[in-house]
Amino acid sequence: MPSFSSKRASRWRWLWILPRLAFILFVGGVALLLWMSEQADKEEKRATLTSDMLWLEQNLRFHLTRNEELLGRIDHAHTSDARAFESFARTMFGFDSGLRQLIWLSAEGAVRLAHPAIMEPGLAGETGEAIPSRQSFRLARSIGKPVYGKAYPYFGNDWQFEVHVPVSRDGRIAGVAVGVYRIRDLLGDSVPWWLAERYRISVMEDSGKVLGTRSKVESAITEEGYQVSFDPPGWGLTLHAVPYHAPRPTASLVLSASLVILAMIVLWSLWILRRHVLRRHAVEEQLGQEHAFRKAMEDSLDTGMRARNLDGEIIYVNPAFCRMVGWSAAELIGRRPPMPYWADDYLDETRALHDRVLAGEGPGEGFELKLKRRNGEVIDVLIHEAPLIDARGQHSGWMGSIVDITERKQADERARQQQDRLQSTARLVAMGEMASSIAHELNQPLAAISSYCTGAANLLRNETPAAEVLPALDKAVEQARRAGQVVRRIYNLARHSEDRVELIDLGERVDAALTLMEVDIRQKIIHVTFDRQAKAIIEGDPVLLEQALLNVLRNAVESMRDTLPEQRQIDITLTCSDGYALLTIADHGCGIDAGVADKLFDPLFTTKAEGMGMGLAICRSVVENHRGRLSFEANPGGGTVFHILLPLAAQ
Ligand code: ADP
Repeated sequence: MPSFSSKRASRWRWLWILPRLAFILFVGGVALLLWMSEQADKEEKRATLTSDMLWLEQNLRFHLTRNEELLGRIDHAHTSDARAFESFARTMFGFDSGLRQLIWLSAEGAVRLAHPAIMEPGLAGETGEAIPSRQSFRLARSIGKPVYGKAYPYFGNDWQFEVHVPVSRDGRIAGVAVGVYRIRDLLGDSVPWWLAERYRISVMEDSGKVLGTRSKVESAITEEGYQVSFDPPGWGLTLHAVPYHAPRPTASLVLSASLVILAMIVLWSLWILRRHVLRRHAVEEQLGQEHAFRKAMEDSLDTGMRARNLDGEIIYVNPAFCRMVGWSAAELIGRRPPMPYWADDYLDETRALHDRVLAGEGPGEGFELKLKRRNGEVIDVLIHEAPLIDARGQHSGWMGSIVDITERKQADERARQQQDRLQSTARLVAMGEMASSIAHELNQPLAAISSYCTGAANLLRNETPAAEVLPALDKAVEQARRAGQVVRRIYNLARHSEDRVELIDLGERVDAALTLMEVDIRQKIIHVTFDRQAKAIIEGDPVLLEQALLNVLRNAVESMRDTLPEQRQIDITLTCSDGYALLTIADHGCGIDAGVADKLFDPLFTTKAEGMGMGLAICRSVVENHRGRLSFEANPGGGTVFHILLPLAAQ
């Protein structure tokens, strides 16, 4: 059992690994999925940022190029008159050019016109007002192409830079149109709102200093950004864009949250399931043990058990029943009447009983029936039927207990037969005894009377005085009295032929039997010893017991017919132990041949010419009828020892 349960436990452990593994894989898979979707999201953002920035750079470049072209096209009309220049400047500022100041420099670099006007040069440096860069001017004039100047601060919190566009007229440089860009305004004009909503866009110097920023939303920004160099403005300006930390989409959040909740529900249900299964497992184990115990009990029963449903179909039989009838459970279960174990000669009776039981009218105290074994042997059984009540309290059939009483019945039959035999042998005893007593015992007194009377008659014939004849006659009278006694005893025997039970002192019965044997013993010169070691009181018929003792003693006497006179001895011992009295009668006679030993108790067996052969058979019946035993064995000193074992009377 323990090995079985430990095997099951290890199987359970293995079984539990699978859902655990599945759960871990599920959680891992979900986490991986989320991570991958996050990564894809980031990647997508990054790609958008790159393309947005490239677009922005293109847009800025387009702005600047367009402005360069427009500035390059400034004509004489605009540069000769301050008003015209102003209107030109306003037009330029008008279409989101990012330009905030326009300056017209002569070919020599002198400021001719400016809108808005330039402040005092000394002041301009401090405030950040545009002072056209000589270096850019010279470069532009010499190469004949637009040149951008270095960014410089404007009123502390803003930065600006200039573009010097040389203007040629009639094949020579007529002057340089200087456009001043304010970085914040440039960004404001060229970065569309939708871009500004997504990124914080700044223009930075090489050193990392931010010169201007365009952003629409005040929000946390992510760390990583994107940078593109901002040429041709030159001077190492770069455009830097940092995406705002966009809140994760609600759908993704809901998905993640629902996945986490789902995982927790799975975990919880797994835990509940495990608890339930463990409990169930424990109950199953207990049930299994109980079932095994019950089965062991049922299997070890000697009583047959058989259950039938309400239709009379067999639904259960235990091993004892199978052993009893010789059919296996598989062969019996499902069978309907007539059953294979119904005895052929009692089919109608059995069918009637079966129907009565099914109708609920079976004998409540049980009934005896004859059944047939598979080998055809008929057995007697005692059956008790009881209603079979199922777990729901419903009457679902009949449960029968079947006890094999064949042996008991046979024993009863044997006892009855023995009783009959005993009764007939008792009668035989009476008859035999009467006959043998009459023959045997009347013979002696009659012979004695005859010889005394013959003697007396001879004496009288010889006219012997009467006084001398008298003793012989007295003896004849005495013998006649003995003969009377014998007749009386025979009468008593006949009177006691019916069973009589009383308390008997076994020693006294031995004495009585010895007294009856006295003449014989004396005549045959036999020495008899009686060692009465205990007083044995038994229950029984004194006359029958005395006859049995007499018979054994007579056999002992007769067995020593050929024994030398000095060895003719009978030793009688009476002992008591363990509730039994044991009487031992040992002779030194001829002994019993091994060949005849087992026939000794057969009726009519005798080795004597004048014997009847009834004595020992009757003796044994008498002793057994007193719940005792009669046996014999060879006497080590020659002859035979008979043992009579009788139960002592209850005190
Ligand atoms: P019976 O005395 O009429 O022969 P029993 O039944 O008393 O009938 O005895 C049967 C036989 O058992 C006797 O014939 C005798 O051979 C043998 N027998 C009985 N008792 C003794 C004994 N003590 N010693 C030797 N043989 C015995």
